[in-house]
Amino acid sequence: MGTDMMTIEHLHQEELLSRDELHDLQLKRLRKTLKTASASPHYARTLACIDPEDIRSLDQVRDLPFTTKEDLRRGYPFGFLARDPGQMIRMHASSGTTGSPTAMFYTAGDVSFWADLVARCMHMTGIRAEDTFQNLSGYGLFTGGLGMHYGAERLGCLTIPAGAGNSKRQIKLLKDFKVSCIHIIPSYALHLFSVFRESGLDPRDLNLRIALIGAEPHSEEIRTRIEELSGMKAYNSYGLSEMNGPGVAFECRTQNGMHLWEDAFLAEIIDPKTGNPLPEGQLGELVLTSLNREGMPIVRYRTRDLTRFIPGTCACGREHIRIDRIMGRADDMFILKGVNIYPMQVEQILMSMPEVGQNYLIVLEREGFIDQMRIKVEVRDEFFEEDMRVLKGLAQKITRSLQQEILITPKVDLVEHRSLPRTQGKAERVQDRRK
Ligand code: ADP
Ligand code: ZN
Repeated sequence: MGTDMMTIEHLHQEELLSRDELHDLQLKRLRKTLKTASASPHYARTLACIDPEDIRSLDQVRDLPFTTKEDLRRGYPFGFLARDPGQMIRMHASSGTTGSPTAMFYTAGDVSFWADLVARCMHMTGIRAEDTFQNLSGYGLFTGGLGMHYGAERLGCLTIPAGAGNSKRQIKLLKDFKVSCIHIIPSYALHLFSVFRESGLDPRDLNLRIALIGAEPHSEEIRTRIEELSGMKAYNSYGLSEMNGPGVAFECRTQNGMHLWEDAFLAEIIDPKTGNPLPEGQLGELVLTSLNREGMPIVRYRTRDLTRFIPGTCACGREHIRIDRIMGRADDMFILKGVNIYPMQVEQILMSMPEVGQNYLIVLEREGFIDQMRIKVEVRDEFFEEDMRVLKGLAQKITRSLQQEILITPKVDLVEHRSLPRTQGKAERVQDRRK
């Protein structure tokens, strides 16, 4: 074991593996994954000339072909199954945020291993069997529902499958059942905890202590807001249906990057343009290979998610590599007047201003031949009621900050609290009306 077992409050032995032990295990599991995957129609073709026994080092993963979302769409619905369909017990689909959805299949072993991974993540943040856990994310095809649910049950928590939306009922459940831990999408958390306060209840007076937030890109400023509004500690949770769902990478109590479970996934960061590996610490696209899936293994999946490996070791003692919070999806980036911009850059600026409320929308417009960015920003009630001079000052402050940070002069519309459209699932941050 790499680390003194006494120092880490662990759920699984795998959490304690040293870098060397992780490498050995990954190599073994990579070979096995390639063998299993070759039984699927897709990989029977793309991995035809590869003999898993020839893989002697993890670097050789770079010689394997990537798998893209397009490949998964082309293989829809059964082209990636590595086992007889009769052996599958579960199907999920991605949310379809960027196009038509893809289908994922799980054997009983896959569902069980996934539940273990999620339980491990939850345990790492300090959740225990004695906790009552309310899952406020959508159930159904979205993996954030059943994925977190099975993990919480595996850990032994009383688990409430509340689903998304209906804030009044959510608040009642949180209160009546003395809920201590929750899973929630960050944009919905901001809404819920504002409603909470308006109804005259202070979330701090309840039993709440830990929030797991994920499923969409969010800035540190959003986390801070959620923590301040709710009085809970909020931990970042990363996953994607192509790699089971939640439980791929998670923050530990240090809250400095997310540990990506290397006994279950092999991670690379590549230059999204060239496909070449990037030096440690550089921002690029995360590529993942599942190492322990039986029903539908996926090799070198291009997630389109942008992050970096955080160099150095974590104070918690776990040696599983950490990824930084997701900057956004490669597809989210937009180009305005020749400048590459991610919504996250805008969000960081807006959410650091106390006058700004909990929601915003970036609209890209074309006026004549000129492209421009309009930002609709919700303002907190107490500021919105101020006189015009104060509001004008705020609009100028936002414009100046964005000019300095991203070199774009936006048009800023200040709008009333809760006037922008909200979804129950992942927030829509950008509307491109230039097309
Ligand atoms: P879709 O790609 O259709 O949204 P999923 O429901 O599988 O399908 O969502 C997975 C995606 O959600 C990830 O690839 C990533 O873009 C985003 N995501 C998940 N967790 C996080 C997180 N903690 N931070 C930022 N983005 C996240
Ligand atoms: Zn840690």
